[in-house]
Amino acid sequence: RQPIIAIDGPAGAGKSTVARQVAHQLGLVYLDTGAMYRAITWLVLEQGIAMDDDCAIAELATRCKIELTPSQSLQSPVKVQINNMDVTEKIRTVEVTSQVSAIAAQSAVRQALVQQQQSWGQRGGLVAEGRDIGTHVFPDAEIKIFLTASVGERARRRQQDFEKTGSILSLEQLEREIAERDLKDSTRKVSPLQKAVDAIELQTDGLTASEVAAQIINYYNQ
Ligand code: C5P
Repeated sequence: RQPIIAIDGPAGAGKSTVARQVAHQLGLVYLDTGAMYRAITWLVLEQGIAMDDDCAIAELATRCKIELTPSQSLQSPVKVQINNMDVTEKIRTVEVTSQVSAIAAQSAVRQALVQQQQSWGQRGGLVAEGRDIGTHVFPDAEIKIFLTASVGERARRRQQDFEKTGSILSLEQLEREIAERDLKDSTRKVSPLQKAVDAIELQTDGLTASEVAAQIINYYNQ
């Protein structure tokens, strides 16, 4: 089987850009697991389901159909569809971002999504990115990377992303959002954000995505 590269880390550590570049350069498939949790969150909000209605959310997570279509260019994100609706941009709003950790903490949601993620990896050849890939989704991944960066650096990167989409959050607001989401993601009961014991930790302050991708490819080739 072809190798699996697992990339985990906190919000804004650059996982998506780096994972996409690594996948592109090595000819592997890129799997953005955060997009799946975001898509479910969007649908919960869209359907007006209460955030604490665990049953309805579990039901929705088990029944919904999520499709991720890799984009042709390195610059554009993966196309995300849920129940045949294109939500590629809708899942990046401030509202979805502020609610996604609560949805991702529900075990029924995780069960449904982890199963789908593992089926993507059956034949290997994957760069999967998220919070629990090396610890839980693909514990046997050939290469495990844990990306980190200071909160300040991560907020600055988020702001650059947002400049493209026209959002107007201040650096302070972004730092607060990132810190809150990390706290929720790393203290939840089911598969919290955690570095796998056998993961390589890369501190990425001051590095470009291409430099980080090059380091990962270096490990891959060793
Ligand atoms: O990576 P991204 O910021 O898009 O992830 C959105 C959210 O989805 C995270 O804050 C986390 O709550 C959840 N997530 C998760 N497990 C993953 C990927 C994402 O719980 N493997």
